[in-house]
Amino acid sequence: MPLKIDFHVHSNCSYDSAITPKEIIYYARRSGLDGVAITDHDRIDCALKIACENPFLIIAGIEISSLGGHIIAFGISEPIPKGRGVDETVDRIHEKGGIAVACHPSALFKESLGRHVTSKFDAVEVVNSSSFPFSYCVKRNKALASTLGVPKVAGSDAHYGPEIGYAYTLVDAEPQETDVLLAIKKGLCKPVGRAIPFQIRLKRAIRTLT
Ligand SMILES: [Zn+2]
Ligand SMILES: [Zn+2]
Repeated sequence: MPLKIDFHVHSNCSYDSAITPKEIIYYARRSGLDGVAITDHDRIDCALKIACENPFLIIAGIEISSLGGHIIAFGISEPIPKGRGVDETVDRIHEKGGIAVACHPSALFKESLGRHVTSKFDAVEVVNSSSFPFSYCVKRNKALASTLGVPKVAGSDAHYGPEIGYAYTLVDAEPQETDVLLAIKKGLCKPVGRAIPFQIRLKRAIRTLT
């Protein structure tokens, strides 16, 4: 049985998310996930800490704000600096032994990579449940990943607990971080997911305002 892993979740260490570590695990289990990747904006310390402290499969990642758009890195133990070019950022991730994912490359209002995605990336996030317009993005991202010949992954981009699990990647691997990341590199993965429903987005917006 492949593992079900949501590859894009923000903990409350991200300035725009309120999800506590406890909630991440609660909602991940409730959605039937086998694991979750924590990808805070430009920091990895909380993700590493949560991964260490919990028996649940947590993959520590970071969503880096490069000059060309957002890039997710996995398999690294220290932050990659923000504000650098796309090529340099991907090179730095690889130098540290990590893998680089082009997240939500076609989404509007998200600082997306757009034309900056190249075959240097180890994967493209084809399904991102927070992307707008959702169906258009999935179609475009799929075509992009296929043209470049890179593996396809999926994540919810959750910033509110109930959003976790709306997208996940089926990974043919043992439930350990190194094996999961190796499987992604080899393309032993399949993106699955849908858009976060409007009611949940609304609840999140109300929560943010109050
Ligand atoms: Zn992003
Ligand atoms: Zn994100």
